[in-house]
Amino acid sequence: MPHRARPRDLAARPRPATPQRPAARAPRPRWLPALAASLLLLLTQPCGAQEIPGLRANLERTVHELAVGIGPRHQDAPQAYSRAAARITALLSRWGVPHETIPVPGARNTPPIIVAHPGGPPAPPANPPAPGAPPVLDMPPPPAPLILGAHYDTVPGAPGAADNASGVAILLETARLLHSPPRVKAWRGLPLPPPPGAVRVAFFPNEEAPNFMTTASGSVAYAALLAATPAPPGRIVAVDTVGLSPRAAETGILAALFGNGVAVGARGPSGPLARDLAAALADRLPVDTVVTDSGGAWIDRSDHTAFTSHGWQGALLTSPGVALAACVHAPCDTPDILDPRIMEKTVLGLVEFAARAPHARAPAPGP
Ligand SMILES: [Zn+2]
Repeated sequence: MPHRARPRDLAARPRPATPQRPAARAPRPRWLPALAASLLLLLTQPCGAQEIPGLRANLERTVHELAVGIGPRHQDAPQAYSRAAARITALLSRWGVPHETIPVPGARNTPPIIVAHPGGPPAPPANPPAPGAPPVLDMPPPPAPLILGAHYDTVPGAPGAADNASGVAILLETARLLHSPPRVKAWRGLPLPPPPGAVRVAFFPNEEAPNFMTTASGSVAYAALLAATPAPPGRIVAVDTVGLSPRAAETGILAALFGNGVAVGARGPSGPLARDLAAALADRLPVDTVVTDSGGAWIDRSDHTAFTSHGWQGALLTSPGVALAACVHAPCDTPDILDPRIMEKTVLGLVEFAARAPHARAPAPGP
């Protein structure tokens, strides 16, 4: 509706005299406090949260592709299972991240273990000395790797957005950013990309029951493969069901206590790894760290356990209260129970953790 014109005679009419009021101070613009608050928020925000263009969108897209586009992916849904593996390798190829695929011996209808090598593949093993030649005593063993691992299978009937498209999406982005780090303020001074072979990002089949901790499990097969090499035991972080939204009322009292955060669990001998990891994440997220040798059955329920049984340090990175989450392993494990902001901050924390890990530092050149 158009505005009504102001009658001319009203404008021309002389105004009644108004009593003189003391000059009032010019009112403070209403937007000033809001601007000051925004600036303060910007300055006090942990760096990096919004500095990687497209990161959050990539995470959401990958979760959607796996959970909605592909759906339940396991040995009795072999087509979907293979499509999930193909999606992971296609993204790594598109981003130029070197990777290899390793079959799981003897496992039925199982796509391969996928291992990405951001920073480049490990050096080929040194030639063993010829029979009869004196042993090379001063040859240092290859460095112990840091593995970041996520399983990409689901239980039958579950779309597996949280368990574990979340972990797959987080580690795909972590591999991408480790391999070709964008020039952002948050990472100035970080030794990125890591030296060849120092950090591996692994995607495992057959983590869920009935394969968990059996020889058909991808992580069990890969741990056995690495145990047969001369490299000493390393450190592994299993990324499993990260980003459960407290808004979805899924994670009970722990989520209420710890808010939009993550949980890190480890057994006593892996305490140093859990504490390093929690420290790297805590700049950006609330972290509930549990290191215990009694109770806490949830701590052992992922791929890292296959490695700790070979003397590795292993930690689980998951959501607070994950053991109480009703939608895990259920048809309601859909993308809406995830908060992509938690996943985004987890990626940034993992990149920083991997870059600062002792394994990621190149050894000093010899004399
Ligand atoms: Zn899982």
